[in-house]
Amino acid sequence: MNIAEKRYKRLRDEMVQAQIEARGISDLLVLKAMRTVPRHLFVIEAMMDQAYMDYPLPIGEQQTISQPFIVAEMTQALHLSSHDRVLEIGTGSGYQAAVLGEIVSKVYTIERKHSLFVRTRRLFDQLKYYNIVTRYTDGTTGWKEESPFDAIIVTAGSPTIPEALLEQLGVGGRMVIPVGDQHSQDLMRIVRHEDGFEKESLGRCRFVKLIGEHGWGDE
Ligand code: SAH
Repeated sequence: MNIAEKRYKRLRDEMVQAQIEARGISDLLVLKAMRTVPRHLFVIEAMMDQAYMDYPLPIGEQQTISQPFIVAEMTQALHLSSHDRVLEIGTGSGYQAAVLGEIVSKVYTIERKHSLFVRTRRLFDQLKYYNIVTRYTDGTTGWKEESPFDAIIVTAGSPTIPEALLEQLGVGGRMVIPVGDQHSQDLMRIVRHEDGFEKESLGRCRFVKLIGEHGWGDE
């Protein structure tokens, strides 16, 4: 490790300790993944020094990389184990997908903005995240051919829970999705049982809009 990398590693350990563990995240797989993924490589270059701060950052195309704590909270809520296959809607910077990729066997992630899709795919290859499969399309209809999934994570705010995503969740599967209006949402956790879906709110959050056939209309 060179000096810059050592410094980022130290900032990352401090981030996990002060922002994640101190706020009650205890899933060891989540903590380990967040100590590993080089978050500074997922932000735009001019913001690298802010990569480990306690807030979201712009990534271009009016989109954002989520605050570290929200990534931890959503990932923990998915109750992941190493053999799981996970679907993510909203690749963005790729940071959330990389955190998932450190934990599970395969991640399927969909992005609707072409420039982000291209940039992030290249980054996954550079960082050798070969267990992350990417797709450029509207993710609100899911990824039927690869379903059912053990877990589904939506990283953009939706007016409702898209029906197609519920259908593509396996029995025993978990989903997290921000549901609400454009200003604030409830972070919903859904578990699929043999006989139906169990839903609970984990609290309020604020995400950019999920835009698509079963999300918000295009502006
Ligand atoms: N998980 C990302 C968060 C990015 S912000 C990260 O870790 O950086 C949300 C992303 O969702 C944006 O990149 C946006 O373009 C994308 N998005 C919005 N609606 C979408 C849709 N219907 N299908 C796929 N991606 C979508």
